[in-house]
Amino acid sequence: MAKVMAVNAGSSSLKFKLYEMPEEKVLCSGIAERIGHEDGIFGIKWAGQQDKKVVPILDHAEAVRLLVEALIEKGIIKSMDEISAVGHRIVQGGKYFSKSELFTKDTEDKIESLIPLAPLHNKAHLVGFRAFKKILPDVTSVAVFDTAFHQTMEPEDYVFPIPYEYTEKYDCRRYGAHGTSHKYLSEMGLKYLPGVEHPRIISCHIGSGASITAIKDGACVATSMGLTPLGGIMMGTRTGDLDPSVMNYLCKCTGKSVEEMYQIFNKESGLLGVSGVSNDSRDVSQAVKEGNPRAILTDKLFVRRIADFIGQYFVRLGGADLIIFSAGIGENAPEYRQKIIDEIAPALGVEIDEELNASLRGKEALLSTPNSKIKVALIPTDEEVMIARDTYAYYLKK
Ligand code: AMP
Repeated sequence: MAKVMAVNAGSSSLKFKLYEMPEEKVLCSGIAERIGHEDGIFGIKWAGQQDKKVVPILDHAEAVRLLVEALIEKGIIKSMDEISAVGHRIVQGGKYFSKSELFTKDTEDKIESLIPLAPLHNKAHLVGFRAFKKILPDVTSVAVFDTAFHQTMEPEDYVFPIPYEYTEKYDCRRYGAHGTSHKYLSEMGLKYLPGVEHPRIISCHIGSGASITAIKDGACVATSMGLTPLGGIMMGTRTGDLDPSVMNYLCKCTGKSVEEMYQIFNKESGLLGVSGVSNDSRDVSQAVKEGNPRAILTDKLFVRRIADFIGQYFVRLGGADLIIFSAGIGENAPEYRQKIIDEIAPALGVEIDEELNASLRGKEALLSTPNSKIKVALIPTDEEVMIARDTYAYYLKK
């Protein structure tokens, strides 16, 4: 038996779950949300109890400090020595990692060298890793890479149409992200497809970062994020795919440097940039209800980009057996699920139980009706259990 902490440090959140392994019993779980805001939210659940507070969480190190304080204060553990291993979600493994790895100095250096490929994420992961390392210097630490699941893509799905020497020399290609989540969702989704010989799944991980993945026979064949998590569909603060000329044109118009514009594409675009309201879909939805025209446009743009990718992957897979909605928005915002289904229904013959959908937040369910040509399910993602499994496997080897 061992206690394993799974850490998922995202761009604006830090999720954690402490497991008793190998039983996969959750001892506590929680999330620090709205990192970077004065009104951050720190929530923790343990032994049937929960606590939530609004506090300033200005960076990831502060989120880790709040977590450690809560573990001891709530009596979840007596001392930090009880934790045997910590697994960290890492978005970008680049060319170096096609599976989870022990966190050695070499692993740390490679993750650091990959920051340009995942500017919002790898940096946050390292902040999380270093904060834990300080408190738990001797535990097994494991890096679990989001890019690993996407390594099965064929070249025509991951090569960009740029001079091939750049692809080779600079490893400039599509890597994708959220692989741990998409792998989990595809495995969980199989229960809805009994007797289907070659399951074709379109999994929609829609959170503040968002990606869509086409999965056939349990392997990724295509994914929406690109070289970095900036690509694909529109996100909380990220543009998603753009005509590459937009960068050049806007730099000329504004006099900003490429680097400045790149930061704007990463941090000031997406829901936030178009709406001018917020990067949080809850705030945008509220503004839509109040009749804010830019929020209404944001909403429509967001839904259409997702629908476009579902259509693309329907073709790529030669049809689809299951569409999965997951992550912050996919799990908790029924209005977005409904709008996406409305957008794809005329072409794909998808039908969901509207009442059931409207009532569901964060709970697994089959949403489609028996008439639907493709099944649709809400499946809460669990990247943490996947991280805990890989981390525990390394702990056993030590
Ligand atoms: P994630 O990155 O998966 O943690 O998702 C974060 C995003 O999910 C937030 O920015 C919100 O837009 C959305 N979200 C989280 N909780 C809710 C909720 N209860 N209702 C609607 N949207 C939510």
